[in-house]
Amino acid sequence: MLKEPYERDSLTGLLSYTSFQKAVALYADIDPKGMENGKYAMLCFNLQRFKVINDLFGSDGGDKLLLFVAGQIEKLGGEGSLATRTHSDHFCLFVPIRDDSLPRRLDEFSRIIENCAPDFEVICHIGVYVTNRSDIRPDGMIARALLACSFVKESVDKRYIYYHTSMRTQLLLEQEIINNMGKALEEEHFKVYYQSQYNHTTGQLVGAEALVRWLHPTRGIISPGVFIPVLEKNNFIVKLDLFVFEKTCALLRRMMDEKVQPVPLSVNVSRLDILYPDMPEQMEAIRRKYDVPVEWLRVEITESAMLDGIEKLTYFIEKMHKLGFNVEMDDFGSGYSSLNMLKNLDLDTLKLDMRLLSDEGSNKNNGAVILTGLVRMAKWLGLPIIGEGVEHKEQADFLASIGCSYVQGFLYSRPIPEEEFFELVKRQRVGEIKPPMQLIEKMNSAQFWNPMSIETLIFNNYVGGAAVMEYRNRRLDLVRINKKFIQELGENLTEEDVLKWQPFDNMDEQNKNILLETAERAIRTDSEQECETWSLSPVNKEPICVRISMRMIANSSDNVMFYILIRNITKEKNSQLEALQNEKLFRAASEQVNIYYWEYDIRTKEMKPCFRCMRDLGLPKLVCNYPESAIESHVISPKGAERYRVLMQSIDAGLASAEAVIPLTDDHIPFRIRYTTEFDKDGNPIRAYGSAVPAE
Ligand code: C2E
Ligand code: CA
Ligand code: CA
Repeated sequence: MLKEPYERDSLTGLLSYTSFQKAVALYADIDPKGMENGKYAMLCFNLQRFKVINDLFGSDGGDKLLLFVAGQIEKLGGEGSLATRTHSDHFCLFVPIRDDSLPRRLDEFSRIIENCAPDFEVICHIGVYVTNRSDIRPDGMIARALLACSFVKESVDKRYIYYHTSMRTQLLLEQEIINNMGKALEEEHFKVYYQSQYNHTTGQLVGAEALVRWLHPTRGIISPGVFIPVLEKNNFIVKLDLFVFEKTCALLRRMMDEKVQPVPLSVNVSRLDILYPDMPEQMEAIRRKYDVPVEWLRVEITESAMLDGIEKLTYFIEKMHKLGFNVEMDDFGSGYSSLNMLKNLDLDTLKLDMRLLSDEGSNKNNGAVILTGLVRMAKWLGLPIIGEGVEHKEQADFLASIGCSYVQGFLYSRPIPEEEFFELVKRQRVGEIKPPMQLIEKMNSAQFWNPMSIETLIFNNYVGGAAVMEYRNRRLDLVRINKKFIQELGENLTEEDVLKWQPFDNMDEQNKNILLETAERAIRTDSEQECETWSLSPVNKEPICVRISMRMIANSSDNVMFYILIRNITKEKNSQLEALQNEKLFRAASEQVNIYYWEYDIRTKEMKPCFRCMRDLGLPKLVCNYPESAIESHVISPKGAERYRVLMQSIDAGLASAEAVIPLTDDHIPFRIRYTTEFDKDGNPIRAYGSAVPAE
């Protein structure tokens, strides 16, 4: 249908934009029915961060990528399709729709584009407009596809979105916001509300977050969730954030002037603000203007700011720190950042949004496990954590129980207007947010959470059963465990099984005390301490005995972290116990029959004979220097002396049991001599139980 020659784009060889529009118009004229009935689609493609690609790989690299993408777009379109590059990294594709394979082909396309460059994820946003009218001209189709394209957010993994008419309504609202925002700022229709933060354990007020509201003269209060994303699209957000910051400083000034004890106030810093290199200086200038101590000001950044490159974020944090501001990570754990990245950022506080963990997808229990993990990680990084979005007392109690006492949420207070907040501060006891713990530099604790670090490698592979335990409120909890630790406890267990099980919850009081005393000794002496404890197995609730050695690696005012090595010694213990048990039974039985028995202390070489020994052999209550003294007095016959010595040497050396037939007394009566050894917790032999029965 299309007759060559059409003008072509010199770089990609695709149709020029004008030719493309002409060709699409031709289709529309020829097949108006098809246009009405969704037989065609207009697609717009927008490569993300193309500027970065040019910077990284040079313009040659950029050109190569454009060529590649152009080729893939043509391939995606297939026969009868038209493709163009509208400008720089923007493309359009017009395709006839013959079946329902387009979504699948789009997924495939996105996958190919994402993996086309080594070490760099190329992302292409796509807007799709499926034709539904015959009277829309090509630029109208493109406008709709472009609008859909602007709805593809970087955070979601969907790379394409289909156009829907509601997008136009939203666009109109956005337009209204844009038209009115300047005036709203001038006329102070933006108001700053404050939401208090509390220490749930002490009830003290520890700070507040400044949250902006738009008090619209006709629409009423507009929530920031509605207008902030719009303002972020056009950089107006920077102005607004500086406005909020100024209002916050003014409030602190007022508190100082009216002799009200101020509390630290946090302001939100948009991802866009961070891209402005002199944002920190502008904030500092405002702070000086109001002359408020920097300790009372904090900024909240979001994990999404990492999307613009960790360098910019690092630079921002560094600058803010130099000026003395505290920097908090908002919505910690929302998924943008790996713990690795977080560790590289020099943060002062983490904010954990309870709502991020609620309901969806995960059951309640999982949420608790994740939460516990996040809180402990934060503590491990030495950062205080503020639980946000806390609506119920149970949530706050739970957070406190896992060591996160700072909460912000409707449970305590909604965001309230400045006046109300000012009155609230006047009435409140004020406390402060303290870092949770002080790391001890015995090992590089921060590296410990890095999955690639040597510490982790050692932890996972070389050390045997190892764990990190937290000591708090006179209880001990496993926080992190390695594979061998799990294996020590039983087969087919998962990490989650073990963390849910918790040895401390499966011990009787006596064993709990043993563990606690050992922990406390390790703290007191700051050295490695050992103990053996019995608990009920996570596999079958049978008693298991574990030898634990523990060493403190981090501490704070209310908790201590231990590095723990364990060995499951249940088998050894049980066979020992069995032997001892047998020995006891044996002794009881021996009273009825012709058996002699005694206890031998391996370290002192003292022997304590039974009553029968004393009566029949004339031995004293305590025989020293055993067996030499017994050989001398011919209790052991000279003939058997040598063999008896060998037997005793094997016991002294730690053999668990030994047996021999040896002649005793001057009458050379053959006796079957048996020994069972008892060991201390380090596995050293301490005592042996001997017995003698006449041999058959
Ligand atoms: P955010 O920074 O995560 O702020 C916390 C949001 O959670 C606030 O919503 C707050 O009202 C809400 N919230 C607090 N406690 C609870 C609770 O117990 N339950 C529930 N359901 N919600 C709770 P808000 O004020 O609507 O703000 C929404 C977002 O808009 C903020 O999320 C922040 O990202 C942004 N924002 C607000 N003010 C500013 C600002 O001045 N500058 C910038 N850049 N962003 C702002
Ligand atoms: Ca915030
Ligand atoms: Ca938040």
